This record gives sequence, C-alpha cells and structure tokens, in this order.
Amino acid sequence: MNVKELDAAYVAGTYKRFPLEIVRGQGSLVWDEQGKEYIDMGSGIAVTSFGIGDPEWKQAVTDQLNRVQHMSNLYYTEPCAKLAEMLCRKTGMKKVFFCNSGAEANECAIKAARKYAFDHYGPERYAIATLKNSFHGRTLTTLAATGQEHYHELFQPLTPGFVHAEAGNMAELEALHSAQPLAAVMIECVQGEGGVLPLEPGYAKAVEAFCREKDVLLIVDEVQTGNGRSGALYAYMRYGIEPDIVSTAKGLGGGLPLGAALLGEKVENVLGFGDHGSTFGGNPVCCAGALSILGRIDEPLLQSVREKSDYLVSAFTGKPGIQAVTGLGLMLGLKTEKSAARVVARCMEEGVLCLTAKDKVRLLPALNIPMALLEKAAQVILAVCAEQEDGK
Ligand code: PLP
Repeated sequence: MNVKELDAAYVAGTYKRFPLEIVRGQGSLVWDEQGKEYIDMGSGIAVTSFGIGDPEWKQAVTDQLNRVQHMSNLYYTEPCAKLAEMLCRKTGMKKVFFCNSGAEANECAIKAARKYAFDHYGPERYAIATLKNSFHGRTLTTLAATGQEHYHELFQPLTPGFVHAEAGNMAELEALHSAQPLAAVMIECVQGEGGVLPLEPGYAKAVEAFCREKDVLLIVDEVQTGNGRSGALYAYMRYGIEPDIVSTAKGLGGGLPLGAALLGEKVENVLGFGDHGSTFGGNPVCCAGALSILGRIDEPLLQSVREKSDYLVSAFTGKPGIQAVTGLGLMLGLKTEKSAARVVARCMEEGVLCLTAKDKVRLLPALNIPMALLEKAAQVILAVCAEQEDGK
C-alpha cells in the first residue's frame, strides 16, 4: 500500500486531508512525493514560526537531543527553566505551566481560574464565559469552552460550567455574570477557527475593565494568535489589555509539541504541588527549540510581520473575487466570491498551500517568509480569486 492507502486503512478518520503527501521542506517551500514545489502559506496551522527546517531551531533541538531527550518533571532541566524565565520577562507574567498542546494549555488556564475562584469565593463560583464562535480545543472541557454548538452535539455530556456570550455584546456578558457569578472570561483576540475575526478593540477593553471590577479572571487564548503571529509577541499586547492568564502553544515550539499557560500575579501561586502535571510538559528538547524561537521574536521581526501583513492586506483589498480581508498580522482571512475550499484547491494546483477557516481562505505563513515568496503566493491567490469559473 502507498502512504495514502495506509493512512486510509489505519489512521483514525478524523482529518479530511488534502490529496497531497509532503515529503520535504525548506523554509516556506515544501515538496510533494512527485517533486512538485509549493509555497507554504499555512506553516502547519501557525506552528513552524520560522519555516521548515529552520537552521537555528534545528541546532538548538539537536544540541539538546544529544544531551538528554527527556527527564521526568521530578528533576530540573535547564531549557524548561530558561524558557519559563524568557516567557515571564517578555510578558510580565509570573509563572509558567508547560504542557503539550493548545487544548492542554487551556485546560490549565481553566483549572487555575477555578482554583482561584474557589479559594476566594467558595464552591459556587466556577462558571467560565467564553465567546460564541470561539475555538479552544478538542478535549471535553475545551470543547465545552468552545462556543460552537456543532462541536458539542455528539459528545454530551461535556464538562459543566461554561456559558457563551456574543463577541461585542457587553450587556450579555454582564447578564451572564449576574445570573451566575463567573470565575473567568476566556477570549481569543482574533477568532481563528471561527473565521479569522478580530475582536473590536473597544470590546476587548470593556471585557478587561469588567473583569478587573468584578475580580473575574481574564484568560486570553493565544494558541493561534501568539508568538509573534499578530505582529506583537502576543495579540493582547496589540489590544493594550492585561490578561491574568495566557494560554499558548502552536508557534511556541516551532514544530515540536509544546503548550504553556502563563500565570499572572493573581494566580501565580494558585496551583500547588500535585494540583496539575504532565509527563511531557516542559520536555527539554521542545523547550530548547522554543528558546530559539522566542529569543528571535524581537521588535525588528515583529515590525517585519506587520509590514508583510500590510502588504497582503493592500494586495487583496478590493481585488476581483475578494469581498473582504480580515485578521491581524500574518493571520489573515479572505472572504472570497468562490467558496474558500475551491480557492484553496485551485491554489494548490498552482503551487500555493492555503487553509480555510469557516467561509474564509486563511493565510498563516511563516513569520520570516521571504518577501519574494509572499509576493509570488499573493499573485497566485489573486489570479485564482479573479478566475472565471468556466468548467474549472
Ligand atoms: N485554542 C485556539 C485558539 C486554537 O486555534 C486551537 C487550535 O487550533 C486550540 C486552542 C487547540 O490547540 P491544540 O490543537 O494544540 O490542542
């Protein structure tokens, strides 16, 4: 059997894969099994921050691999401690819990918020509000947090204690708190899976003010928006808000599984011995790679992310077949006249890999994608969007 047949026979059928086997990559280029080249505008869904086979990341990872690939969390390892320090120094947060994925980072954020509320207000205060159309992960608890009914239907009962408010509607959030006191509000600054929809800045500020006033913790899910993607280190920084807890993953590890919950002042000591844990959390190889990624997300890099974003937004805005451009930094959504799936399929034929998010074509290129490749990809996407559908 070839790879596609093996996959169909033996891998759980949870993914609708594109008909493409990627066999190698370099930077923002990847090649399929036939040797055809593609520009990668998805970076593994916002994971390979500096592209495929990024030499600095590879060096950091292999150096650590040659020392020790794993120790249990019963021992200290340097990359874990140094990465936690770097995350805290760059954000002003106080402590970090490491795990392996975005969903787990959110699980930790939720546990920390519930423990804080329990410690301060007793067992009645446990509810967490998230936004309608949000996405927070696939575990039963993060599915409950995800504000999209269709993810819930087949897996009842989910973890109780989650309520959902319309993004932009402060009155609804306040009413939820009046009906049942909230432990936390969890938001994405840009709803990624929900269709690349940024929050209104005024609304984000109002949520922050509400949380401060009521001592409701503000959790910002930076799994997709984080680690430079928005044009700031974390998207909440572009909104000028200060979360109590930040969850992140994806681009932090640069291609190895790593998640982190960053705990602010109110919750820095809320989780004690035995309250939480993860066998692989803080794995030294993953953390060594992440140190090399995070260490390079500096102001010049962020400035270049914003410039590339500006380039794409102006390249696409008002162009034939493109109805709207949404998003922030190098996390952009295109509302196209043709279906997003059709645009993505045609782009693939033309050698550009894009993603979808709901009804949008979603672009998440590597942060360091060379300008020449970005321009080439933009030309292909523009041409595909403008194409007349004459039987194609
Ligand atoms: N939160 C957000 C905002 C995400 O976009 C995702 C994944 O797309 C997750 C959480 C879940 O992350 P993971 O797939 O690493 O568990």
